[in-house]
Amino acid sequence: MTMIDESSTSGKAVVIGAGTMGGGIAAQLANAGWHVQLLDVPSTDPDGSSARSVAAVAGLDRVMNARPPLLYLPEFASRIQPGNTADHLTGLQDADWVVEAVAERMDVKRSILAEVEANCNANTVITSNTSGLSLSEMAAGHSTSFRSRFLGSHFLNPPRYLKLLEVIPLPDTDPAIASAFVRFAEQVLGHRVVVAKDTPGFISTRIWIEHLIATMRLALAQGLTVEEADYLTGALLGRPRSGTFRMADLVGLDIVAAIAANQAIALRDVSFRFELQLPEIVERMIVEGRLGDKTGGGFYKRVGKEMLALDLVRGEYRPRQDVRIDEVEALLSRPLLERLRSFTGKPAEAWDTFVQAVLDSLTAYVDYVGPLVASDALSVDNVMRWGFQWEIGPYEMEDARTERQRNYRGAGPGRRMRVFGAAEMQSIPALPEFVSLADRKAAGGTVFETADGALVDLGDGVACLEFRTKLNTVSPRLCEVIDRGRALAEREFAALVIGAGALHFSAGYDLRLLLQAAQANDWNAIDGMLRVVQSTLLGLKYSTVPAVAAVRGYTLGAGCECALHCAAIHSGPELTMGLPEIKAGLVPGGGGIKELLMRAMEDRDSGAGALDQVERAFRQIAIWGTSTSAAEARKLGLLRESDGISRNADRLLYEAKMRALALVATGHRAPVARAVRLFGGRLLDRLRRIIEEEEHVWSGAFTEHDRLIAERIAGVMCGGDGEPRDMSEDDLLASEREALIALAHEPKSIARMQALLATGRPLKN
Ligand code: NAD
Repeated sequence: MTMIDESSTSGKAVVIGAGTMGGGIAAQLANAGWHVQLLDVPSTDPDGSSARSVAAVAGLDRVMNARPPLLYLPEFASRIQPGNTADHLTGLQDADWVVEAVAERMDVKRSILAEVEANCNANTVITSNTSGLSLSEMAAGHSTSFRSRFLGSHFLNPPRYLKLLEVIPLPDTDPAIASAFVRFAEQVLGHRVVVAKDTPGFISTRIWIEHLIATMRLALAQGLTVEEADYLTGALLGRPRSGTFRMADLVGLDIVAAIAANQAIALRDVSFRFELQLPEIVERMIVEGRLGDKTGGGFYKRVGKEMLALDLVRGEYRPRQDVRIDEVEALLSRPLLERLRSFTGKPAEAWDTFVQAVLDSLTAYVDYVGPLVASDALSVDNVMRWGFQWEIGPYEMEDARTERQRNYRGAGPGRRMRVFGAAEMQSIPALPEFVSLADRKAAGGTVFETADGALVDLGDGVACLEFRTKLNTVSPRLCEVIDRGRALAEREFAALVIGAGALHFSAGYDLRLLLQAAQANDWNAIDGMLRVVQSTLLGLKYSTVPAVAAVRGYTLGAGCECALHCAAIHSGPELTMGLPEIKAGLVPGGGGIKELLMRAMEDRDSGAGALDQVERAFRQIAIWGTSTSAAEARKLGLLRESDGISRNADRLLYEAKMRALALVATGHRAPVARAVRLFGGRLLDRLRRIIEEEEHVWSGAFTEHDRLIAERIAGVMCGGDGEPRDMSEDDLLASEREALIALAHEPKSIARMQALLATGRPLKN
């Protein structure tokens, strides 16, 4: 048996504790292709071993039913075998990794670890998923061999969606094992790892909880409302919109209190301890059971359609108030670093006083605590970025505000950072696999840029087209950028990567433009817009240099069509891909139907097989909707077997570039244009039956208008109800345009577009 490292794309893990975290970790391992034994306490029922594993079976059930899903595909659950710690510890003998994720109690953890040592093999890596107990205390008394393979692995819940993983090696941990485990966690499980010291709450909890409570106290002291405090500690500071009080509601005030109490007990020194004391109002809310979202209300409360907020002075709910401060709105349109620079000097307004106090308190706290919990400034900043979705961390914030470069110096590849206890700044190690577009731009890679997009030189002859519209929606102006970027790449580069700059590849065509034109009965305008997007995507398809779509997140409608036209797709693990135009009352009009049809018939000789494939493509567009992971997109046929999936979303740009270079190396040529076989009436009958089945199964939920749209899609795919015939790509595109424009005439389609734009939710009419 070999030790686990970045090459361990299969293996066996035993997860002990089938609760929230054990289940989440087991799911992430199953997603990565590992086999997992998920063990929990045995039931006291003596009959039969499966009944004895009832706790773990229940844990696996929770994994299978979790929303949002923990598994990339439901069938991955078969990789998880439930068991119990009385009958199945022999399973540790061939385990590559054992994760302890039992309740947060030292006595329980120590007794489990003793069993682990007695049962595992001499190479098994053992980690504990404690939130804040001392790992050294857990390791005490174990053999040297055990201690060399023991370390902390602090996942956040749920591990599939929260990418931060704090890894805590101990003085006795073999450094080679610790670094192999880090590479495994990054490259196989897809996490971003920060190495932390063995101190209570590690880096993440230690900073997060103090800052949350300190901010609440400042808001109370300065008489701010919860809405004002959240408005000023959300997007303004480059953090999630939930800000402070809303965030506490989401986490649960009882959990906040438990974390604070555990920290206060574990911390031996008293400095800053007072910030772990919850404000009196929070303690009162806990006593009253107002714990946040899980009890139907905390600082905010929804009653019917109305959102209420707690008046912090009176302790009563009142309607939630929208906060809008003109100066803040003006700042929000400026880059974050620039914004932070303005929070210096004597504050003029109450809101400014609060923001400065929040930032001052954060700076003072991390100045004190950073060296205790981490080895350098970047580790702390990365924890806040990867674990809490802050755009930049506290040390970077401090530098931005003071313009003193106390924590970082320089930019791009030569950037240096403050290492605690070292006299000199040290270079930040280059991690080429985690390169971002921002890094390339900072290094001077921008070839051209407009408000809608940019072309960035990735080096080695590869250029990257970045979309920059809101949610990267496609519009005629973005098409111009794509055309220009593609033409330039054809002249000056060997390959083109598209995307990879944002959390979402593209939410689809800018629906506002289509709706406006439809409401003005300007069908020529819609025809023109569709012609532009169709010709832009054909440009990508027939480009003389290979185009690789680097997709992740929303890859919908025209975004999906863009990817389908590329020579290859490389996806992040999380992918919401598909052609959901039906929800907007429309059909795909950028060549999406055409591309799925052409893919279905790549092997045209297969006769009946081709019909099945086309039928599948029809179901994909008219019925199945979008994928919930890249693995599912592959199952649905939106990704081909030859397309790639990154295990770690932050490696997407690097891996897409490698894929592009591989296409160049294997002599990629643009495809030769060919006609598409349309099966006419033979297929149309089959597709009509599918529509009828759908109406029958989902009576009411599949509406008349859904039927009308599905029939339009079927019409494009079959080319009418006549004899089979061949059709050129151009004619198929014309047929997509015609179907879309016909539907745009329908009042129900207009209502669907309006609802989507107004609420983000589809209207079933
Ligand atoms: P949980 O209460 O949901 O699950 C704990 C599980 O351990 C239960 O199923 C319990 O039956 C089982 N268990 C208890 N004693 C056992 C024993 N002796 N043998 C086998 N199984 C046993 O707790 P959780 O939230 O999953 O937390 C697990 C660990 O992860 C804790 O140390 C916790 O502090 C830590 N953690 C939790 C979170 C989180 O957000 N939930 C985040 C980070 C770390």
